[in-house]
Amino acid sequence: MNTNTSQLYFDKASTLIPGGVNSPVRACHNVDSTPLFIFKGQGSHLMDVDGNTYIDFILSWGPMILGHSHPLVTAAIQEAAARGASYGAPCPDEVTLAEEITAALPSVEMLRMVNSGTEATMSALRLARAVTGRDKLIKFTGCYHGHADSFLAAAGSGVATLAIPGTPGVPAHVVADTLLAPYNDLEQTEELFRTHGDQIAAVIVEPVAANMGLVLPKAGFLEGLRALCTKHGALLIFDEVITGFRLAFAGAQGRFGIVPDLTTFGKIVGGGLPVGAFGGKKEYMQRIAPSGDVYQAGTLSGNPLAMAAGLATLRILKSADYEALEQRSATFANELRNILEGKGVPIQMPTIASMFCPYFCEEPVTCFADTQKADARLFTTFYKHMRDQGILLAPSAYETGMISFVHSEMDFERTLNAASQVSF
Ligand SMILES: *Cc1c(COP(=O)(O)O)cnc(C)c1O
Repeated sequence: MNTNTSQLYFDKASTLIPGGVNSPVRACHNVDSTPLFIFKGQGSHLMDVDGNTYIDFILSWGPMILGHSHPLVTAAIQEAAARGASYGAPCPDEVTLAEEITAALPSVEMLRMVNSGTEATMSALRLARAVTGRDKLIKFTGCYHGHADSFLAAAGSGVATLAIPGTPGVPAHVVADTLLAPYNDLEQTEELFRTHGDQIAAVIVEPVAANMGLVLPKAGFLEGLRALCTKHGALLIFDEVITGFRLAFAGAQGRFGIVPDLTTFGKIVGGGLPVGAFGGKKEYMQRIAPSGDVYQAGTLSGNPLAMAAGLATLRILKSADYEALEQRSATFANELRNILEGKGVPIQMPTIASMFCPYFCEEPVTCFADTQKADARLFTTFYKHMRDQGILLAPSAYETGMISFVHSEMDFERTLNAASQVSF
């Protein structure tokens, strides 16, 4: 595949932007490749600046669950743009979007819009600390909650991809308050509560871990976290930046029937524009300024274009058939696993809702340590082969595959055909 124009852009970008990209994993370092520069997205497809077309299983890392440039979302953005890009004053769509989100997730009685998932999680943590008067936080190894200092201890996503244990620039005393336990390990979480119980403000968790590949919660894990938090007076924060409106319209909490104290959103709620949100019990949320004393603000928060895109997206998703999509996704993922198994490589293919993840290892993956047993070279070979065949997988063994409502049977068939031609 000719990608010369992408290469030219990347060479120039590398002189102007660190690593040539504005978010690390996009650089495709870990899969021995350079990034494709994209000209346009349409439905389940992306077209690069050289005119190549790809079936897209990245979907902007989650937001584009309706596919690229969905006509109703595009129209909503255009209509809003014609009325001005930003007012610095409230607009009606902020209220309507808040209404849609609170109606979809009963635990979210009140919420505040922000501009990214990172802002959502850091604000939720600030609130949890204010509410409890405590400083410590429990997070799980391999979970990613954005790039705020407190969460950059043993994180997933780009941090895992680049094998950065933490990162320079984060003061040791900041992460000293971040306690770590392995995902799915209730015993170690309990142990942390035994030692630090009266200092723990919150437990934050991806209810399905989707930044170290795709790791499903074991039966009882999320329920156990709920019980521990209740027992010790800590807040349970569900980071639903990926799972919100993807696992189900009511998110992971709706699907698993667990009521967190606070929830963070991002990705899908913005319909492709930069939006995040955090919310929860009214009693807690009313601590946020100006109704309360916990400061949190944003010049572009509740931006009219972003609200219009999010609102258009949620209105479509409200009547979307998540179960049918899950069925189709599972069938596709199983066939993909069978094909790779037939190649004689070790393969695990966890799947839930419209996500799937090929791990090239023998044993089921239940925590970050397990993900490290997957063969990164096999993944690289697979990634490069697929990309050359016009199929875009996330350029990292630690990112989940995403499927949209507009991926067609033909897309799946072409993908499986391409996979059947790989040789390791
Ligand atoms: C993507 C992600 C974030 C960070 O969101 P940004 O919009 O990239 O800041 C936080 N938490 C989870 C679970 C995510 O997947």
